[in-house]
Formats: sequence, structure tokens, C-alpha cells
Amino acid sequence: MTASIRADCPDCGPVETPIAEAQLRVTFEPTDPSAVIEFRCPRCLTTVTTAVGERATRLLMRAEVPVVGSPTSAGHARAAPRERGP
Ligand SMILES: [Zn+2]
Repeated sequence: MTASIRADCPDCGPVETPIAEAQLRVTFEPTDPSAVIEFRCPRCLTTVTTAVGERATRLLMRAEVPVVGSPTSAGHARAAPRERGP
């Protein structure tokens, strides 16, 4: 099954990219939860990274787009290096 998602390429505009070519990067920050979708444009083959809203994020997750990023604060959080703060 080859599902695809719609995304916007800055050069080509709206394109459809196979889910296999897409990746969802999620950052679960308490104050600013955000996600970006990273995909390769099927037309110009550029890797595009664009922010997506919470609603779109859930739709993408439901579409089984591979997700990378920090998991929510689960009980068994792995020891990860903290980002440098101010
Ligand atoms: Zn493009």
C-alpha cells in the first residue's frame, strides 16, 4: 500500500509525497510543542522541512508517517543529553 501525504514545497508548491519519503520530527516542549515534517519533494528532489500544526501532526501520525524526536515524558525516559540552555 502506497499512501501519500500532501505537503508544500517552497519551489513547487503543493506536492504529494509518499509516506515512506516523509519523516515527522516532533519536539515535545512544555511551553511550545511543535513538529516539523521533513520530506523529499518528488518533483525537485529537495529535502524540505516545514512546520506543521498540532492537528496536522496527529493526522500525519495516524497516517503512520515515521516519527523521530523526543518522546513524551514517559516513565522510562532514556538518558539523553540536555540541550544547552541560556
Ligand atoms: Zn519541490
